[in-house]
Amino acid sequence: MGVDQPLGDSFITASLDGLVNWARKSSIWPMTFGLACCAIEMMATGASHNDLDRFGIIFRASPRQADCIIIAGTVTKKMLPIIKTVYEQMPEPKWVVAMGACACSGGVFDTYSVVQGIDEALPVDVYIPGCPPRPEALLYGLIKLQDKIMKDKNSFGSTIGLGQRLESAA
Ligand code: SF4
Repeated sequence: MGVDQPLGDSFITASLDGLVNWARKSSIWPMTFGLACCAIEMMATGASHNDLDRFGIIFRASPRQADCIIIAGTVTKKMLPIIKTVYEQMPEPKWVVAMGACACSGGVFDTYSVVQGIDEALPVDVYIPGCPPRPEALLYGLIKLQDKIMKDKNSFGSTIGLGQRLESAA
């Protein structure tokens, strides 16, 4: 490019989408929210051995400050309205991770009181199988979420109300 020579190493060029997506994927802040046994693995993933902080993933204690919710555990019909309220309190853009067999499909609990997959109520971005998934699986799922965020189109325009946010294919 023509600007390379006079500017040397002092400048980089990038698309606005690339910069916004890079900032977002490098600072995913999940809601501190656990439902059942899968939440123990989620806590272990955030602890020192696995250290989610190195990805910029830092749990927040308020939905107002969170842009991701990890559904970690069995979703009962009694709990579903509370989960929806917490999700609705999170600002856009926001992402949902279904962690474990229970969150993905109800797991072994094919009963009258258990929701047969959180995607009946929330738009899930990443599904993580397992009962429970190990911390490595959750880490992998979050890295896949980062990949998905990087493919987002018009991510800045949608924030300021210009155009429509196009969902990534992955
Ligand atoms: S998937 Fe297994 S470990 Fe996770 S909440 Fe359900 S029963 Fe517990």
